[in-house]
Amino acid sequence: MTIISNNIINIYYILLDNYGNQNWWPVTGGGKFEIIVGAILCQNVSWKNVQTSLELLKINNLWDYRAIYQSNFEHLSECIKSSRYFNQKAQTLKNFMALVIEDFNGQEEKLFSLTLRDLRNTLLSINGIGPETADDIIVYAALKPSFIIDQYTKRIASRVGITPLNNSYSEFQTIFEKKLPKDQKLYGEFHALLDKHGSNICTKKNPLCEKCCLQNICKHYLVNK
Ligand code: SF4
Repeated sequence: MTIISNNIINIYYILLDNYGNQNWWPVTGGGKFEIIVGAILCQNVSWKNVQTSLELLKINNLWDYRAIYQSNFEHLSECIKSSRYFNQKAQTLKNFMALVIEDFNGQEEKLFSLTLRDLRNTLLSINGIGPETADDIIVYAALKPSFIIDQYTKRIASRVGITPLNNSYSEFQTIFEKKLPKDQKLYGEFHALLDKHGSNICTKKNPLCEKCCLQNICKHYLVNK
């Protein structure tokens, strides 16, 4: 079977058909605040560890913008210890909360009412927020379309044959955004599906190609089978 050249949207539909809706971002009642904190904490760590940190923040009454803004740094770090790089992430949380409190009167909706371009630039200006975290916040909290690129997305896209693995974040993002309708819901669902597939089937070592729903459009599989 030949590889379909414009197969990005096909990948989305195949994954959706295989796994169903993932309904991200998972929250436990904390709304957009919880999404933002989760997005900052989840870099380079498992979601299970993030959940432990979120629970501790809740138990310790560090569960809104002002509470984290005014918190003792060591106490905040201690609460998020399970999320690795906790001092760095505690500082990023404080930086984000300072922006919301000082520049947007403590109202996230004012921040999220910026245009997509201004919002992304504002988020990227916060020390500790990189493109992936910014795009997580934009898609799942601000509900605006900015395609999220992570290691799972890069791995699957490169193996399938969309673009080389060593391309930059913005090169991957441009390729996905050019081939997809600019739709926040689709971006959010697609990202969740890619993470599901990348963590369960298209793993870093020994991908489970024989069980993979993408094998008929995957360059890696078709070349190596
Ligand atoms: S066929 Fe194998 S390499 Fe290709 S996407 Fe599936 S698991 Fe990954």
